[in-house]
Amino acid sequence: MYKKAWDIISKSKHITLISHINPDADALGSSLALYPLLKEMGKKAIVVNMTKELPIRYDFLPNIDKIKSALPEKIDLLISFDCGSIDRLAIKKPDAFIINIDHHRTNTLYGDINLIDAQAPSASCIVLELLSQNDISLRRDISTCLYTALAEDTGFFCYENVNKNTFEIAARLIEAKADPVFIARKLNERNSLAKLRLISIMIQKLQLVNFGMIGYAILSRDDFQKSGALRSDSDECVDQIRSLATVELAILLIEENEGYKVSLRSKERLDVSHIASYFGGGGHKRAAGFTVDHKDEKEIIKEIINKADI
Ligand code: AMP
Ligand code: MN
Ligand code: MN
Repeated sequence: MYKKAWDIISKSKHITLISHINPDADALGSSLALYPLLKEMGKKAIVVNMTKELPIRYDFLPNIDKIKSALPEKIDLLISFDCGSIDRLAIKKPDAFIINIDHHRTNTLYGDINLIDAQAPSASCIVLELLSQNDISLRRDISTCLYTALAEDTGFFCYENVNKNTFEIAARLIEAKADPVFIARKLNERNSLAKLRLISIMIQKLQLVNFGMIGYAILSRDDFQKSGALRSDSDECVDQIRSLATVELAILLIEENEGYKVSLRSKERLDVSHIASYFGGGGHKRAAGFTVDHKDEKEIIKEIINKADI
């Protein structure tokens, strides 16, 4: 499959690299890793993400300034990264061959070729496998993108998806000049005061139920306005809830125009991807999400807690 995918990449001219909306490091890093390679191969390569404002903390990723927020007119090949279902690309499905590179257990296999490995800790590990199996050598710009993606998706090598192999991959990327200290500082030590204020508001609103096993909070548009925080500043809030000693299930609702974006995290036992799938979303065992378009927040929380059954 990896050879076939590279064969198709080699034969295509107009190639669009795209990742899921509200992107994280894995989405952006995985798609940006291939960009300089394709350019060198003489391709008309374009990186797209349909999110209006990309999170500023990824500004150090090589070629981040090349990302466009609209599809080009001509696409022979679309490669999607870190995206479990085509609706999360937020585009109209183009008339093009699709290679789907992902690690979500809920992936709907929407590609003509699907390079899916639910055991992979990040989509960037699958990109690395694609490069390795086709004897493409790594270099600093590529390995920086792939390492950043891996580091963030593993919670800096702390989550359950980490094993010996993960560290071996990290070592290969560091050998190819990814700088782990630089990347950690760029990701973790550039918070804005507005972001910390948002986390503080979230903690004030946090509720614990079921003997403290479930923690939930709801962030309104007003909370963002009061703190001055951006939407991407809320990315860590749900992890803060999970960090509580008693919490097995963390739930965060973020008010959106039409309803809520819901983030779910679990610690050791619950498979939150099942809960998210039930509500039309998806994700991983310990991190999943979905959106709902109705407004009754209490009802949403109640339904999730019922479904979680803990
Ligand atoms: P988040 O809570 O947004 O950080 O997302 C946690 C995980 O669930 C990520 O792997 C997302 O890709 C996935 N996810 C979040 N929202 C959705 C959704 N609406 N549909 C499918 N997967 C989602
Ligand atoms: Mn992602
Ligand atoms: Mn990922």
